[in-house]
Amino acid sequence: MHEMSLTEGVFRILDDQAASQGFARVKAVVLEIGELSQVDPESMRFCFEAIKGGTIAEGAVLEILRPPGRAFCLPCGVEVAVAQRYDACPHCGGHQLQVIGGEEMRVKEMEVE
Ligand SMILES: [Zn+2]
Repeated sequence: MHEMSLTEGVFRILDDQAASQGFARVKAVVLEIGELSQVDPESMRFCFEAIKGGTIAEGAVLEILRPPGRAFCLPCGVEVAVAQRYDACPHCGGHQLQVIGGEEMRVKEMEVE
């Protein structure tokens, strides 16, 4: 379950930000977990809730955004939506797709005090 180590990474980011920006509490965290990322949002939520007690994010609300998968088809020269990493282009049926969105896993925003 790599979501636990990813969640620990999120808390490290929160701690680093708290140290550099001088806030003491995190009230809300917005995570972006792309639909093409190999990360399960419900597992992330479970891990977040399990870890947050006793941290600066104790009591923080977690919001998870799911950016859709997007790719650029070289032969067609257009951007297309993809549900999975190895989907074919819906226009030409080809596989020369370059994924340009939906693979992210990052802290997008946080609300602090
Ligand atoms: Zn195409």
